[in-house]
Amino acid sequence: MTTYWCELAWLGGRRAETGVMIEVEDGLIAAVTEGVSAPPAGAARLDGVTIPGLANAHSHAFQRALRGRTQQGSGSFWTWREQMYSAAERLDPDSYLALARATYAEMALVGVTCVGEFHYVHHGPGGTPYDDPNELGRVLIAAAGEAGLRITLLDACYLHGGIGEPLAGAQERFSDGSADTWAERVDQLGGAGSGSDDGVRIGAAIHSMRAVDPESAAVVARWAREGGRPLHAHVSEQPAENQACLDAYGGTPTALLDDAGALAAAFSAVHATHLDDADVRLLGEAAACCCVCPTTERDLADGIGGMRRLVDAGASLSLGSDSHAVIDLFEEARAVELDERLATGERGRHSAAELLRAAAEGGHACLGWPDAGRIEAGARADLVTVSLDSVRLAGTDPETAVESVVFAAAAPDVRSVIVDGREVVSGGRHVSIDVPRELDQAVRQVML
Ligand SMILES: [Zn+2]
Repeated sequence: MTTYWCELAWLGGRRAETGVMIEVEDGLIAAVTEGVSAPPAGAARLDGVTIPGLANAHSHAFQRALRGRTQQGSGSFWTWREQMYSAAERLDPDSYLALARATYAEMALVGVTCVGEFHYVHHGPGGTPYDDPNELGRVLIAAAGEAGLRITLLDACYLHGGIGEPLAGAQERFSDGSADTWAERVDQLGGAGSGSDDGVRIGAAIHSMRAVDPESAAVVARWAREGGRPLHAHVSEQPAENQACLDAYGGTPTALLDDAGALAAAFSAVHATHLDDADVRLLGEAAACCCVCPTTERDLADGIGGMRRLVDAGASLSLGSDSHAVIDLFEEARAVELDERLATGERGRHSAAELLRAAAEGGHACLGWPDAGRIEAGARADLVTVSLDSVRLAGTDPETAVESVVFAAAAPDVRSVIVDGREVVSGGRHVSIDVPRELDQAVRQVML
């Protein structure tokens, strides 16, 4: 049994509570006691605001290598995608392990305790499978374990270069040829499924309705539904994607996913940027999750989705850093609100507590970890402590500490991260990985 005493802890309400004792046993929170004015003897002291572990619900780990390298000149999502493909072409199992391990360790430094890796670079150059066709999936699972995070590997079916277009270049590495072959391969990932407690879950993804035809999408949706697995898909990130679906199939991506049975699964729509009213209604009625990635969406000039109407319709929210233009879940959380302010001229559309809930509980739930993301007895012992002594947070009022964290904290303010009862970040440093050094080496290995 380990006992922690938190100066302030956010237990899910509107504000943080003062003087909270948290007892941890076997990786779980055994008890939470409020109103403990001083640390009991033997308790580890957590100064600042302690919040639940955050989930980065949408990641493509290899895209961390592109940071800063795609910011010159003009262009669009589609020109960025060409640069992304050139990075995807260069990955091999060793370089991918190093890059993902360092990227996940960077996530740990900002309080991420679980990552949803949307995995589509499956095969070797030219699409030749590795001896183990799940080699790169296993690399990602190993990387998360070494970085101290839980992972949900969302293995993505990817079959076409666009609607009616053949695969080209790096895309050949993404495809299994058919949805049935995709399912056979993912089945071989074996025991690391829902219910296991090795910190690993296997989920499914439909890359997009650009890359997967409706019949194949139905096969993936059925696989997810029958196995009780999370199912994610990129949805309406760009207007051109909607137009292509309307032209080819007469429906929006959301409508096509609904027809394919995807919304009946534990479904997350990633981005959900360009939706019409019927799409919003469908996602809300399905109680689907919308995984927003605002720093990537602004980086790629995708647009502002506006999540209030989705939440009002019945959808839940989670957050992801996606392309890793930056990795800072506080920045993702406040961007949901701040971008919407710019688009609507209205403040306070999402409260700080709602945004933090999306970052913690919402993300974990959509990745298949309903027992994480809350500080309460019985939950996984994921504790993230944000120090209040930085220039950003000095002067924080305990009454509005949740607002301070969500609207002003940055990654370096995270001093301590505990995942399943194990310390992963201490004193602002990863306990086993020199993160900047490993990132530097890993990125150079892929890009230079
Ligand atoms: Zn993505």
